[in-house]
Amino acid sequence: MRNDLLAEVRAENLAKANAARKGKDSTKKTTQLLQATISGLDASRRSLVEARASQIPERSLRAYVRAIAGKSLRSAVTAFCSECVGYSRKDVRNCTSLACPLWSYRPFQKPKKV
Ligand code: SF4
Repeated sequence: MRNDLLAEVRAENLAKANAARKGKDSTKKTTQLLQATISGLDASRRSLVEARASQIPERSLRAYVRAIAGKSLRSAVTAFCSECVGYSRKDVRNCTSLACPLWSYRPFQKPKKV
């Protein structure tokens, strides 16, 4: 019984440590991509992108950086929608601007039921 409890606690701690490490790795990669992207931009755009990136919450930064790097149209839509509603995924999902050209493509929609 006690060993089961200890094993459960160890598994939980391992899962937490892995989640924390994964988050740090992801943040590090985003930061590296941001630095590489910014350094590749022309001077007139560099400071504007840098200033904007500094205002974006960490969990939304990756999509913005990928969009700025020209790596993904999907990321561009995600970044635009996120910025549009103040970085609330719930507000993007529940967006009521039905006439917006991005509405059908907005991220964070609930998966369609099969
Ligand atoms: S779909 Fe909604 S959240 Fe996305 S850009 Fe249009 S108005 Fe903004």
